Amino acid sequence: MTAATPVYLDYNATGRVRPAVIEAVAEAMRQGGNASSIHHFGRIARKKVEDAREQVAALVGARPELVVFTGGGTEADNLAIRGLPAKRLIVSAIEHGAVLAPALLHDPKAVILPVDGAGAIDLPALEAALASAPRPALVSVMYANNETGVLQPMPRIGEIAHRHGAWLHSDCVQAAGKVPLDLGTLGADLISLSAHKLGGPQGVGALVLAADLDLAAQNVGGGQERGRRSGTENVPGIAGFGVAAALAKAELPALAERVGRLRDDLERRVLAASPGARVYGRQAPRLPNTSSLSMPGRNADVQVMAFDLVGIAISAGAACSSGKVSASHVLAAMGIEDDEAKRAIRVSLGWQSSAGDVDRFLTAWQAIEAGCGRQPDAA
Ligand code: PLP
Repeated sequence: MTAATPVYLDYNATGRVRPAVIEAVAEAMRQGGNASSIHHFGRIARKKVEDAREQVAALVGARPELVVFTGGGTEADNLAIRGLPAKRLIVSAIEHGAVLAPALLHDPKAVILPVDGAGAIDLPALEAALASAPRPALVSVMYANNETGVLQPMPRIGEIAHRHGAWLHSDCVQAAGKVPLDLGTLGADLISLSAHKLGGPQGVGALVLAADLDLAAQNVGGGQERGRRSGTENVPGIAGFGVAAALAKAELPALAERVGRLRDDLERRVLAASPGARVYGRQAPRLPNTSSLSMPGRNADVQVMAFDLVGIAISAGAACSSGKVSASHVLAAMGIEDDEAKRAIRVSLGWQSSAGDVDRFLTAWQAIEAGCGRQPDAA
């Protein structure tokens, strides 16, 4: 059997890099130069960085001078959590590890906010946590969840946080490029972005501030990024990030609509084919590209391998380390039992996804559920 073209349905893990981004990265590498050098090469590199800063700022409605380039989303989250002089950290239970881990390290008394069955954070719990927290507190709530795509009511969360004199950080790594983002209306004081989730290169991201903030640098040294993040700028990565941000902004409404239709079609067909299947967060406002779903009777690791065998790339909806799949903390926070959560997979679409991809996914889904080429469920 000749292998068909692989189908990539794992955009939330990392997007497909756009050709214009590859060209911008290659061009910056060919050009060379350290953005801090004052000679010809340095000036060209500096211009690439500053052009990208404007493009990233434009994607989120920010002032360019308040964009701090980092080595990715994880670093941006760490800079926000560790860089502000908060006396209490309040984070949601469904945050990515890039927020949860530094929050718990930085403040062992950090408050973890629960979510409801649809994945929405408990606003009365936020009010209560803020009322009893020493001031100033820092609230960190992601706009879009990486596993379910569920969106949080950020302006409302911002209003609550600010009423209690707290800062609001939002991990917008998965939201950027998939839903409109405007710092003026989002309600957050600072947001994290990651280039590779929106068609840019890996290992570059940004922390974007809504207004000037006294942020303690975590990387100190040469004083780059206005002293907020020392280290020679990753000029090729930043140039690629800028192009990806500009493309994401230009294409967003049409892409969101097209991908949303594909995702909805996929879910409708899965539920029609498998009455026991379940889609998580379906009743909540969600990213248009993401589907978190479970197949009856098949563990996620078995599904991921079986899909891969027929050339379809998806993720387990659960954290996987050392080859052992443990139930997702996101689904657990939504009240999904361990056994069921271990069957959850994540399908995430993007700019290269097509109706043909959805057809291939459905064919494979039905075959895997029926047990064709079946491997026994992992214990
Ligand atoms: N935050 C969220 C919500 C993510 O999904 C990810 C990546 O999976 C990160 C942060 C980390 O970003 P990066 O891979 O750029 O470090």
